Amino acid sequence: IENSELYEVVLQESKTDSITQVWNHGYFQHVLSNEMDKAKNFQQPLTLLMIDIDNFKKINDSYGHQNGDVLLRELAKILKSFSRDQDYICRYGGEEFSIILTNTSKQQGYDIAERIREGIAKYHFSKFHLSQDLKITVSIGLATYPDDVPSKEELIAKADQAMYIAKFGGKNQTCVAEAEKTSQ
Ligand code: GH3
Ligand code: MG
Ligand code: MG
Repeated sequence: IENSELYEVVLQESKTDSITQVWNHGYFQHVLSNEMDKAKNFQQPLTLLMIDIDNFKKINDSYGHQNGDVLLRELAKILKSFSRDQDYICRYGGEEFSIILTNTSKQQGYDIAERIREGIAKYHFSKFHLSQDLKITVSIGLATYPDDVPSKEELIAKADQAMYIAKFGGKNQTCVAEAEKTSQ
């Protein structure tokens, strides 16, 4: 019994990001493949969000990397609080999170992304014991399978592109990927 419990713990840890306790990059890739297969079989849409913290380098520079980690952890909790049971919150890397929204259309995904973005912008991060609360914003890119793209790599690239458009547009916004134009 002890061994199987230990196995479960190790298995869980191998899928989880140690700083934020959300799914790690490896598990994100695995679960996205699986969920896209299911989406195809059941003919349901799947929407992917790429979320990048705005000006995070400044926060590290001002308050130190340990406080930066505290903020990442706090942000992960907010993302969890906004998510549904069916969603997968993942740490894509660095200060980037991805959320797999299963059985979610582009419009529904956009509404969820905007709720998350607004929720974060309003949230007072008070963990640094500073005299003033800290506020942060995020930029979000969104792409939908199979509407926008036919494969996992392209879905991630599309959501990423949309996220960069949100950055160039002035940050603190959600941008939606444009579907590939099919030439006839
Ligand atoms: P932008 O609005 O364009 O996204 O600006 P930015 O400063 O957020 O982006 P940039 O890519 O210049 O910097 C990302 C920063 O994220 C730099 C890096 O030190 C920090 N970072 C990445 N991973 C971690 C981490 O695990 N902990 C902490 N504290 N910082 C991290
Ligand atoms: Mg980044
Ligand atoms: Mg950033």
